[in-house]
Amino acid sequence: MSKLPLPLVIAHRGASGYLPEHTLVSKALAYAMGADYLEQDVIATRDGALVVMHDITLDDVTDVAEQYPQRARADGHFYCIDFDLEEIRTLKVSERRGADGKRKYPERFSLNAGRFEIVTLEEEIRFIQGLNMSTGGTVGIYPEIKDPQWHRSEGFDITENIVHLLQKYGYRSANDPIYLQCFDHQELIRVEKEFGLRVKLVQLMRATADLPPLEEIARYAKGIGPSIDMLYEGKGAGQDPVPTALVDDAHEVGLAVHDYTLRADRLPDGLGSLAAALELLVAQGGIDGLFTDFPDMVVKWLQGRQEAEQARDDSAG
Ligand code: CA
Repeated sequence: MSKLPLPLVIAHRGASGYLPEHTLVSKALAYAMGADYLEQDVIATRDGALVVMHDITLDDVTDVAEQYPQRARADGHFYCIDFDLEEIRTLKVSERRGADGKRKYPERFSLNAGRFEIVTLEEEIRFIQGLNMSTGGTVGIYPEIKDPQWHRSEGFDITENIVHLLQKYGYRSANDPIYLQCFDHQELIRVEKEFGLRVKLVQLMRATADLPPLEEIARYAKGIGPSIDMLYEGKGAGQDPVPTALVDDAHEVGLAVHDYTLRADRLPDGLGSLAAALELLVAQGGIDGLFTDFPDMVVKWLQGRQEAEQARDDSAG
């Protein structure tokens, strides 16, 4: 048996390096690639449906501007919460576009191939539970409560609605295959305190965010989700990247670390390859999980590391 800890592979918006983010085919591909968890970003529609979308606006991944040209707000954006689910279902989802209207990641899936749609959180949970049933797998869900304060300002308590749906589908305790994530620590605190839901919580972190100290986060959360750039120093040319103290500090107070987001086509600064990034984050850094757009590559690297360890054990023993 290998002694190496195996960090969790979390498919960021599905296998989004290969297919349009948050579509069911992208989730199915990530599932087949061996991801441990599949991520859902969750936002609300006007009629209170929870849908799996990264942005609160529909602009960059759908054809909303063509289908509903009159429905933008004064700021020029099309907000999901201004549309009923029935309308959301008519939208065609595509690969993410940048401000210039072209693909944000030019090497990825083409813009106008396939037919993809937005799904509700409920549909996606049933889809993943269905795959677990048909394959005997145990893949978990990893929903993110998106912009809870903004949703509240629009008259919708997204946290409460997500909690109720999770309870309905059997996600209730720390043993269930789910991590629930949010940047807003007040909302994470509500999950158990106000609603009594005891699933594993992950406090997302940005370098600039104003958050409680780690020992306080450890009182309500199981882990932290920092951006990769918070985990190492030495990003400049000719510098030697080395891990920061964040992982050790988190482990000190019992928090797991799941960092975001590793992309093969947008490597972290100063790291020349995906393998170099994994070596730094996993082997040197000791992270417990990572979000990636390319779950197959991370799984393959981890398997290679396991096999090398096994070979060393065998020859030693
Ligand atoms: Ca997310």
